[in-house]
Parts: sequence; C-alpha cells; structure tokens
Amino acid sequence: TESLARAEALIASIPDYPTPGVLFRDILPLLADADALRTVTTELISPFAGEFDVVAGVEARGFLLAGCAAIAAGVGLVPIRKAGKLPRPSEAVDYSLEYGTATLEIQSDIAPGSRVLLIDDVLATGGTLAAAIELVKRIGATPAGVSVLLEIESLGGRSKLKSLSTHTVFADR
Ligand code: IMP
Repeated sequence: TESLARAEALIASIPDYPTPGVLFRDILPLLADADALRTVTTELISPFAGEFDVVAGVEARGFLLAGCAAIAAGVGLVPIRKAGKLPRPSEAVDYSLEYGTATLEIQSDIAPGSRVLLIDDVLATGGTLAAAIELVKRIGATPAGVSVLLEIESLGGRSKLKSLSTHTVFADR
C-alpha cells in the first residue's frame, strides 16, 4: 500500500555506524511519523491475529514496537532485556555477536503455555531473536511467531529461527 511505501521510505541508512564498514538502518524517523507507526504496527500483528496471548519485545527498539503492538492487539507485554536490568530474572541465555557474546534475560510473569509473539526492529544474523525464543521456551511459554520490522536478508538470520513462523514487514535485499 501507499502507507507502507511511505513508511519504508522513512527508514534511514547510516554508513559506518556504529563501526566502519557497517550500514546501519535507522528506524527512528519511521517511529516519529504517526501514520507510519500505526501502519507498521498493524502489519506486525495482523499475520498472527488470534494466534498469540502476549507480545515479547527485545531491548531496546523492540520495546517500542512491542508496546504499540500490545495495545493494538489487546494483549500484555513481556520485555526481553540485556543482562543485569531485571529485578527478578528467571532465565538467561548467552548468544554470539559479531564480536564477542551478550546475554539476554526474561522474567517469568506470564502463565505457562502462553502463546508469545516475539517482536524486534531488525533481523540481522538472527542471534538475538534465537536467544529470545529460547528464553520464552525456558519460562514455559510457547513461541507463536516472530515479527520484525526490517529483515536484512543477505545475513540469512531467518534460518536461525528454525520452523517458527517469521514475518517481516520490510526486506532489505
Ligand atoms: P542479530 O542478532 O544479528 O539478528 O541483530 C539483531 C539485533 O541487532 C536487533 O536487536 C537489532 O536491534 C540490532 N541491529 C542489527 N543491525 C541493525 C541495524 O542496521 N539497525 C538497527 N538495529 C540493528
């Protein structure tokens, strides 16, 4: 649609950020636009209508989209945070970054068996979302799918998410 094309055009590309040679995709101009934000929120959740009981957002930009998605879908929200930020972490998973490793944590505040739609801004190598999926499973919830604003297809991250249904609003080829 026209609204989606407008939203996509608001994603900026920043060369050499955060390090030389990296082309960083900046979604903040899209978030700042009311029509674009509403349009992508609908796109993130509509393929999974009726299939999830809660959304999980990955720190930090995933929180912003997950908050919008939760209200739009009428469900609650669980944050998946970087290590050391949660008062009562239940589970922690280490994962690889381009350089080194990182840790994500979750709190166990949802009913066992809850169906969780995982949300983030960008799918790159897939390591972050793979760790997030593992965390959801470890608290006894059920991953219902992954929904991401922008997939950088050349990095092949989708293959790390295995059989879980993965929806991306925009693809960067
Ligand atoms: P992955 O683990 O390699 O898939 O990286 C995904 C994570 O890194 C997400 O949480 C994104 O927020 C972040 N990320 C990676 N590349 C970009 C980018 O170009 N723009 C914004 N965020 C990015």
